[in-house]
Amino acid sequence: MYGERIARARARMRELGVDVLLLSTGPDLPYLTGYEAMPLERLTMLVLPAGVDREAMLVVPRLEAPRVVERPDAFTVLPWDETDDPISVVADLVPPASTAAIGDHTWARFVLDLQDALPEVRFRRAVDVTGPLRIVKDAAEIEALRAAARVVDDVAAVMRERPFSGRTELDVHRELVERMLEGGHERANFAIVATGPNAASPHHDPTGRVIVPGDVVLCDFGGTMHGYCSDITRMFAVGSPAPEVREAYAVLREAQEAGVESATVGTRCEDVDAATRRVIVDAGYGEYFVHRTGHGIGTEAHEDPYVVAGNDTPLVAGHAFSVEPGIYVPGRFGLRLEDIVVATDAGPERLNHAARDLATVE
Ligand code: ZN
Ligand code: ZN
Ligand code: ZN
Repeated sequence: MYGERIARARARMRELGVDVLLLSTGPDLPYLTGYEAMPLERLTMLVLPAGVDREAMLVVPRLEAPRVVERPDAFTVLPWDETDDPISVVADLVPPASTAAIGDHTWARFVLDLQDALPEVRFRRAVDVTGPLRIVKDAAEIEALRAAARVVDDVAAVMRERPFSGRTELDVHRELVERMLEGGHERANFAIVATGPNAASPHHDPTGRVIVPGDVVLCDFGGTMHGYCSDITRMFAVGSPAPEVREAYAVLREAQEAGVESATVGTRCEDVDAATRRVIVDAGYGEYFVHRTGHGIGTEAHEDPYVVAGNDTPLVAGHAFSVEPGIYVPGRFGLRLEDIVVATDAGPERLNHAARDLATVE
């Protein structure tokens, strides 16, 4: 699998006139090698030449080398010792006067040192090489996203049976994190718990606010499992919700449905955004939908393609992204409903299946 991805990266490099790809920390490196570099002051860098006759070298600190799973079809490990200068180790592998594409997440100190060591090399962003590869998920990646989605679906289902009243936002936040980890996630990336008027802020940080009957609670949580991310938002009403909340939620649900249904292959990302927005605007809540409809998801929680006005990228089979419209009424309440969706030739496939109604909890 990694050998095949490396071959595709090389083909793309030749298309772009990139001679060498340099990847350090960040999601591109594990995508091509299966190895995730620790964000350390010690340099880890994959040096991948465009030419198939030249080996890809993974330059790693010797003490990190035992963590690397070797993939002889993809790269060779080149460890450096504590007294070596890793910048010159990498520089020696870069062809003179070439064009190098360097990972977007590479620390500035390494980029600047490499530029000094390689004054005749032209640097550009690696996303031009890796972006078009990573944006289209293969079957194994979609299966990983599906597995991660199942875990948060289960958490959402359990939360419907849990008491909310009398607990703090932070307490519910901790429960969501624990349940994601128990479900097999290696990492919880976020767990937004926003209650009552706090939910009018879409990315509210959980606080010590105590949940009271009549509150509506927004839970938006996700993590990483086998390298791929989950992300779901479900809404919980403590006791019976106010009519204004019930009405707005019905609009939101219709908007989310319209967005998912619109997400067929060939539809532009901005048109999926327009599909959710139209329902909300038509119902008179337009000013309360203050963000884009969604974001791509994969090894990163947010990545291309972004489902936003102005993005005319047409969906292709294998694009994975969230559809998460929201209605935020300042001082009153906030609502969001989010599923991960994959565009397929057979139509949009939701990866999340947890019940989408406004759950009534105690
Ligand atoms: Zn968000
Ligand atoms: Zn989310
Ligand atoms: Zn999201």
